[in-house]
Amino acid sequence: MSTAITAIDVHVHVHDARARELRGPEAQRRDEERAAYFKRGTQSESLEEQAEQYRKRNMMAVLMNGTDETITGIKAIPNDFIAEAVQTYPDAFLGFGIIDPWQGELARREIRRCKELGLHGIGEFNPARQHFYPNDTRFYPLWEEAERLGLPVLFHSGYAAAGSGRPGGRGVKLKYTQPLHLDDVAADFPDLTIISAHPSWPWTAESLAIARHKANFYIDLSGWAPKYFPAELVQQVNTLLQDKTLFGSDAPSLPLDRWLREFEELEIKPEVRQKVMLDNAKQLFGLDR
Ligand SMILES: [Zn+2]
Repeated sequence: MSTAITAIDVHVHVHDARARELRGPEAQRRDEERAAYFKRGTQSESLEEQAEQYRKRNMMAVLMNGTDETITGIKAIPNDFIAEAVQTYPDAFLGFGIIDPWQGELARREIRRCKELGLHGIGEFNPARQHFYPNDTRFYPLWEEAERLGLPVLFHSGYAAAGSGRPGGRGVKLKYTQPLHLDDVAADFPDLTIISAHPSWPWTAESLAIARHKANFYIDLSGWAPKYFPAELVQQVNTLLQDKTLFGSDAPSLPLDRWLREFEELEIKPEVRQKVMLDNAKQLFGLDR
């Protein structure tokens, strides 16, 4: 990693046209709905363009993958695609692979394969779309594998853009995203690094409490416009959770420049800003060793 890097965005999605094509028309429709939720355009963004956005700012991005194929039949972007993106733009990208938790032993093997592919973690799990409780012990072999391999896991937490305002929320079930379920996983796998993505509304306080209580539990600030961050989130990030909070945008759903601009306007102490934007992620991914 270049020493000139000033920030690591730990939560970025791929909207490259080739990746979209691999996923089919149903995925396309869902992307359009999500774009409407975030009030932005639906245009695809090539990996090259995305890499350039980070390079020109001396930043790096962690590419997330995702899947709910068992529930919706929508194909995931292959983990090999993410691994290839990281190999092609090593100065701009790190990457996470994804597994479908319902695939059992196959999923466990895919975690191992993600490690071999040089990926840095597993995620984004989205329990609301994947319809599973992370603390259901049927899934414990997966967390055991990730823990053994030293791969952090990232979970969507709280309110979902997916299905928002649609009939039945398009089958997305919010109950699965309550952070408290992750508290069990953090307790039962103390060497597993867990990242709870987003401010976790309406359970923000719950997520903050777990981050304070469990050394292996982190939060990212993605997917929520910083100008709407709950006051208690800003207050905790500035104080007790300054070593547990990670910069994440959820770009391109929430555009990077908007996230950065609004975060700049928050009352965050300069030394805390440095930790959130860079130092905490460097430490979590072992990049300064
Ligand atoms: Zn996300």
